Amino acid sequence: MTESSFDVLVLSGDGIGAEIMPHAIRVMNAAVDDSIELRLEYADFGGCSIDRHGVPMTEETLRQAQESDAVLLGAVGGPKWDDLPVDQKPEKGLLGLRSGLDCFANLRPALTFGPLSEASTLKSELVSDLDILIVRELTGGVYFGEPRGIETRDNLRRGFNTFVYDESEIERVSKVAFELARKRSGKLCSVDKANVLEVTQLWRDVVCEVHSEYTDVELSHLYVDNAAMQLVRQPKQFDVIVTGNMFGDILSDVAAMLTGSLGMLPSASLNSSNRGLYEPVHGTAPDIAGQNIANPLAMILSIAMMFRYSLDAAHVAESIEVAVHRVLEQGLRTGDIMPLDPSAECLLVGTDQMADEVIGQLKSS
Ligand code: NAD
Repeated sequence: MTESSFDVLVLSGDGIGAEIMPHAIRVMNAAVDDSIELRLEYADFGGCSIDRHGVPMTEETLRQAQESDAVLLGAVGGPKWDDLPVDQKPEKGLLGLRSGLDCFANLRPALTFGPLSEASTLKSELVSDLDILIVRELTGGVYFGEPRGIETRDNLRRGFNTFVYDESEIERVSKVAFELARKRSGKLCSVDKANVLEVTQLWRDVVCEVHSEYTDVELSHLYVDNAAMQLVRQPKQFDVIVTGNMFGDILSDVAAMLTGSLGMLPSASLNSSNRGLYEPVHGTAPDIAGQNIANPLAMILSIAMMFRYSLDAAHVAESIEVAVHRVLEQGLRTGDIMPLDPSAECLLVGTDQMADEVIGQLKSS
């Protein structure tokens, strides 16, 4: 009997985005039971939307996204659209979608699946069972601040940007981070550069003020340079990290590489009503598109995040994550996560078979 129903908009996008999405949807359908009804709608987005509609995102697609409980996005872009002016490129649709949904909190887990700990560039004892969640502010900070530009003064070119946050922007993303820390180990580390940047002194002040509502969470602070060093020195000291847009951009890529593979990394971007956009961290991989060799697990794990954060169905998220873990334990690998050591007992599988195996595990559990 259906107890809850959700509208999910599917934007497969371009390259391997379009290739992995149908398989990830098969996994999603296998993961839910009769108590959850998923109403799926599909729309063009990115390069394929430019080809069919002349723009990377139509107004109708944005409206559909805003009316959905969650949006699943493959990836957009590719060489075909690289020479278009910046404001007509597929990536423009991505920025428009994120801001149109007001997705201000970007959640990037860095999770090492035990069987893949050898894939990291760090020693496996440093990263085995690693489980960090980076919460990055996504719609403000120096990437969006005005004024910005390049100008010539006294015959010298000068570039400038504005690093700005108001307290409401800091407050809302810190609340998301405190809530998540509360549901995990109860530890939150806020990253700033409060010793030299006034904007991040405000960041630290506001995070401390919000902390008074979450006294059960242990709060610590690190300067961003130290945080980068600690992430590669002893990553398991962290649980949830909250930081601004630019610092989060850099630190989440560092944390991502601790896990060893781009094809394994999911992400979520949430707004204040916990509606969100769920997408793998990787792009459209034009070098391998159309060959049935792309790893679908980042997209599948992004769907798990959707169940946890937007659809309030953590049990479904867990069942998907456990199924992925089991498939990896059995030694099944797409090319990107295949060990270089030929003596390792792993079996190379394609995109479709990897999804089939996850479905097999879901059905047998
Ligand atoms: P990419 O992530 O597409 O690929 C980088 C490398 O990783 C490639 O060698 C690729 O084959 C490999 N790879 C990526 N995902 C994989 C997967 N699931 N399985 C196996 N291998 C995988 O990054 P790029 O090459 O810099 O960008 C290609 C295109 O994607 C560009 O047009 C770029 O603008 C776009 N892009 C889009 C997004 C997005 O939609 N969010 C993000 C990043 C890049």
